[in-house]
Amino acid sequence: MTTLYADVIVDISREALDRPFSYIVPEELRERIAPGSVVRVPFGKGGRLIRGFVIRLSGNCGYEPEKMKEIAEAVTDDETSEGKLIALASWMSRTYGGAEVLALKTVLPAKKKIGGHYVRRVSLTDTGRAREYLRGLSPRYTGRIRVIEILLKAGMLPVPELLEKAQVSVSVVRSLEKDGIICILETEEYRKVVHEAEMLPADQLTEEQEKAVSYIKAEWKGSNRPFLLTGVTGSGKTLVYMEMIAEILEEGRQAIVLIPEIALTRQTVLRFVRRFGESVSFLNSRLSAGEKYDQMKAAKRGDVSIMVGPRSALFTPFPKLGLIIIDEEQEETYHSETAPRYHARDTAIERAALENAHVIMGSATPSMRSSFCVRNGTYAGTFLKNRYGNAVLPETQIVDMRKEMESGSRSIFSGVLLSEMRACLERKEQIMLFLNRRGYAGYVACRSCGFVVKCPHCDVSLTQHINGRLICHYCGFEMPELKECPECGSKYIGGFSVGTEQVEESVRREFPEARVLRMDMDTTRGKEGHSSILKAFDEGRADILVGTQMIVKGHDFPSVTLVGVLMADLSLNESDYRSAEHTFQLITQAVGRAGRGKKKGKAVIQTYHPEHYAVQCASAQDYEGFYKEEIAFRTIMDYPPVGTLLAVLGSSTDERLLTTGMMYIRKYIDRLDPKKTLYAIGPAPQAVGKIKDHFREAIYLRSDDPEKLIRARKFIEEYLKINKGFAKINIQFDFNV
Ligand code: ADP
Ligand code: ZN
Ligand code: ZN
Repeated sequence: MTTLYADVIVDISREALDRPFSYIVPEELRERIAPGSVVRVPFGKGGRLIRGFVIRLSGNCGYEPEKMKEIAEAVTDDETSEGKLIALASWMSRTYGGAEVLALKTVLPAKKKIGGHYVRRVSLTDTGRAREYLRGLSPRYTGRIRVIEILLKAGMLPVPELLEKAQVSVSVVRSLEKDGIICILETEEYRKVVHEAEMLPADQLTEEQEKAVSYIKAEWKGSNRPFLLTGVTGSGKTLVYMEMIAEILEEGRQAIVLIPEIALTRQTVLRFVRRFGESVSFLNSRLSAGEKYDQMKAAKRGDVSIMVGPRSALFTPFPKLGLIIIDEEQEETYHSETAPRYHARDTAIERAALENAHVIMGSATPSMRSSFCVRNGTYAGTFLKNRYGNAVLPETQIVDMRKEMESGSRSIFSGVLLSEMRACLERKEQIMLFLNRRGYAGYVACRSCGFVVKCPHCDVSLTQHINGRLICHYCGFEMPELKECPECGSKYIGGFSVGTEQVEESVRREFPEARVLRMDMDTTRGKEGHSSILKAFDEGRADILVGTQMIVKGHDFPSVTLVGVLMADLSLNESDYRSAEHTFQLITQAVGRAGRGKKKGKAVIQTYHPEHYAVQCASAQDYEGFYKEEIAFRTIMDYPPVGTLLAVLGSSTDERLLTTGMMYIRKYIDRLDPKKTLYAIGPAPQAVGKIKDHFREAIYLRSDDPEKLIRARKFIEEYLKINKGFAKINIQFDFNV
């Protein structure tokens, strides 16, 4: 029998992961040791026994075997969250590829605290008292007046931000503190929300919601498959989640709630806090590394038992994880863009299996994959068909924009949308205008020769902004407006289509009296940009909100009664087999924004493809209809979820090197698979062929057996390792997305 070696880390910190120690696995322990196992190993000069975690096993090692020590024992009664997370990392690197150490770094919390970890914030001690103080204050104290006025509006602000805004020195703040008007707190961002909230009693479930809950409970008693809750927007999915969380907490276990970052608003977090109080904690990308670490620690200690957060919250080290919820499970943000390129949905299912926990996924527009899994019995599932409180789904109307063009209209808005907008403004209700993607079609072209202005570093067209400048949305490259075509000299060069800025402009032209807000990547760049725009709209300080994807997710605006979907079908042009799925999801979500309150809503969908099933089904809010059409297409093409797909993604600054390298990989695949059971396509340029001067190509492999692709990937990885020529190209694998 060959010797088996184990890499062991004796300390869970990121630095330690890079230098594990190798040990021999004694034969009698072979059966009991796997990645994630807790062991005791002799360490240091005296050979003192200490605790460690096995991170990988292998049949060969780089050291002289006679100098190596043996693992002393396997500790089986020491169940730790780290051990399970290490086992999960091992699964991730096996499934998605990439170095094990990267997977480990993804699942284990950073140990190091980074910098001074708490922010000093200022708030008024008592607003009533502050107002009184303000009245009695001599007008020459302009600095103090500004500070109080700012705090009355903003509530709480970090010290530097306050000084900047009020244009005062620290001494002004100090003197106000001395007078007892303000206090300076060392706060942690996340606790702030939690402290402010009032607990509210749980809502009474509707009959339909009650049914969904008992359905899930029945599943949990039996086979415990992942559960998909398909519920129209506003049907109360969140309520069902909370009911199931309560169940888990009762058993002394903990729950993770994944929500896409973009929907992770104050409103969302507050709903959980109002129900579960201080046992709720949350993560988002604005927290510092130190703050994140503190929360992970709190979770490990058991100080909190519900973690609400984006993709990374999946790795919260709870001692007894009982439930993982994935809201809006179809969201692309659940797929990591860096190695390991894991999908949070499948990784959650794996983690739940390791910990004997449950998974609930929810969506109004589930991914094709999850719906497919319900239909073939891998997942369980149920529906919520009604909106809460008899709120009806909005009436929808599809407008064929080609006809508008034919009738001579060059406006962004159809006649129907304009008259609906006018009526809505007269009723003093709110409007949302949704434009598919930031400046998506804002490209500049010559009408004489067809020349399109592209970014010199990326293979994408530049987008014209309102000030005329041309900007690349991938790398930020900018250039001034062009007055004539660099190719043919014609003067007929200009922006062709619309971006959010143009929509805002057109709205202002058509409705000069309306108050308009715009939300896209450009207006939300600041730290608070996002939430301040939403808040202003929520408080009725604007009549119309213009925006991209961002405005269709996760925010409830009860007084919005009209939604305009502008060019929603543009995403049908994506070079991706999921373009219809994405289009259907976007339009459905946008339409679902209308009429969330007591009043009935209306949605106008402007399109150049009125007959396309993605547009038709979204307009009718007909998920089943869409699924049927789409799955037929996927079946014919053998695309996921019917088939399995592995993308080999290559990128390099050297185009020739990349092309040659990818050709070699393709040839290697053909040798590996002489019977051509893996349908290989490529190499071909990726959807975007160049980004930031890096050329990008892809090879796609398809098979009905995922294991075959996992094996193929392993072989390709080995091949890349052996051949030094690949050092200069970056190869990544994307599995099943
Ligand atoms: P979804 O997540 O399915 O879009 P939500 O859970 O956000 O739906 O519910 C939509 C709205 O209806 C929320 O404001 C929620 O508080 C309310 N709601 C849903 N069910 C109930 C209920 N049983 N009792 C009271 N309010 C409810
Ligand atoms: Zn030209
Ligand atoms: Zn660029």
